[in-house]
Amino acid sequence: MKSLKDILVDGTYSMEKEDLLCYGYDASGIDVLPSAVVWPNSAADISKLMQFAWQNDIKVIPRGAGTGLTGGSVPSNDSILVSFEKMNKIVEVDTRNLNVVVEPGVINGELQRTLGAQGYFYPPDPASLNTCTIGGNVAENAGGPRALKYGVTRDYVMQLEAVLPDGRIIHTGVQTKKSVVGYDLTRLLVGSEGTLAIITKIRLKVLPRPENVITILAAFGSVEQAGKSVSRIIADGIIPRTMELMDRITLAAVNKYKTVGFPEDIDALLLIEIDGNSRAIAADADKVGNICSGFQGKVKIAEDTASRDLLWEARRAVSPALYKISPTKINEDVVVPVTKVPELLMGLQAIGEAAGVPIACFGHAGDGNIHVNIMTDKNDKKKYDEAEKLVRKIFRLTLDLGGSISGEHGIGLTKSKYINMELDSVNIDIMQGIKKLFDAKNILNPGKIFPPASAVIS
Ligand SMILES: Cc1cc2nc3c(=O)[nH]c(=O)nc-3n(C[C@H](O)[C@H](O)[C@H](O)COP(=O)(O)OP(=O)(O)OC[C@H]3O[C@@H](n4cnc5c(N)ncnc54)[C@H](O)[C@@H]3O)c2cc1C
Repeated sequence: MKSLKDILVDGTYSMEKEDLLCYGYDASGIDVLPSAVVWPNSAADISKLMQFAWQNDIKVIPRGAGTGLTGGSVPSNDSILVSFEKMNKIVEVDTRNLNVVVEPGVINGELQRTLGAQGYFYPPDPASLNTCTIGGNVAENAGGPRALKYGVTRDYVMQLEAVLPDGRIIHTGVQTKKSVVGYDLTRLLVGSEGTLAIITKIRLKVLPRPENVITILAAFGSVEQAGKSVSRIIADGIIPRTMELMDRITLAAVNKYKTVGFPEDIDALLLIEIDGNSRAIAADADKVGNICSGFQGKVKIAEDTASRDLLWEARRAVSPALYKISPTKINEDVVVPVTKVPELLMGLQAIGEAAGVPIACFGHAGDGNIHVNIMTDKNDKKKYDEAEKLVRKIFRLTLDLGGSISGEHGIGLTKSKYINMELDSVNIDIMQGIKKLFDAKNILNPGKIFPPASAVIS
């Protein structure tokens, strides 16, 4: 039987433990070593690898930067992990047609900086943007604070090049604004969590940078008032580019982690940004200020770029800052219609208080996507099991409010056991049929998305 050295050149793969240790985990905290790691240079390298894996029934796991929060890129001991550090080029910046072509290993923040220097931007901006890759963003259909106004990754992917599990290379999508030729395989691959194909090249839409941005901070005495302000702003026809929420527990954690000077004696803070034409946004900022004041919010405008950058640094530090409160967080990212945000926030608070477990809420309140963090300790089994029981309650509350159990982090390993709370068997059957069509041997990122019992593909 052939081995990796027969199909790949030296320096593009390793089976050394010290290399494997660097790739066996993601931000879910799950950690399993693969049997090999491969650093391909091209789609052709990946095609060769997949033909080899297909013929020998070997599992292959794509991995970007490992910032995923649901175990999507966590390997199994008997798998080959593919990492895209060498496929990290911005291939083309076509500002006349407002698009760029990138390899999957490009870091989101690097693309933002390259485009920013030329007066353009790529809207999806996950809070992990300085680390996560565009390939990982596409596989997870990542969102971010700006999704409120500009949408998520799926809204920006025009074309994909990808390698199928049997090694064939597929090109999907078009370079044009429109096309209705056949099924939309591009939209299917976006958000498929590395289970259908390995993405090797991506054409993304970009936009001209807005003329100006105003950043507003509003502090509230309750999460309910903050939630009501969010709902009212949208209902009044104002679409800020971001409306980020931080609750009391989150603010305390950030204040312990970083000197930003967020007020301690409040229950919720909204970080709101409005972008566009200077005159229009000044009028919108006034309206936003009035709405927040109407719900007893204390409103402040960030004076300059430095204070705005500091606020965003603090917002992006929330995830690591929460470890200042408890060693473990069970991290969910539920999403509800924006009018239901106040009810969701009140319901989450009630669930936490009834169980005596701190639940920190923050995130993209403007599009109804709240990151819910159940603070616990995985070394204390009783405590952890009690905390984990709250997940079902949180998902039930979300679904009853017309929401979805994941707005942007995906299902991966950690949420697969809950997927049938949201999807009925007809949906799951069709999805598993699609998986089987792409990957009849179930070798590409197996065990992800579908619940363990139904993950067996007959
Ligand atoms: C601090 C922090 C903040 C975050 N904030 C946000 C946020 O605001 N919005 C948001 O949406 N997410 C957020 N996330 C989650 C995470 O950053 C995103 O899901 C991101 O898209 C993952 O990218 P990655 O490169 O790290 O991918 P990984 O974590 O390495 O992989 C994620 C999934 O993509 C698959 N994959 C990776 N590359 C490829 C490829 N080339 N082809 C096929 N499949 C591939 C993997 O198999 C896996 O299933 C955050 C995470 C952290 C730790």
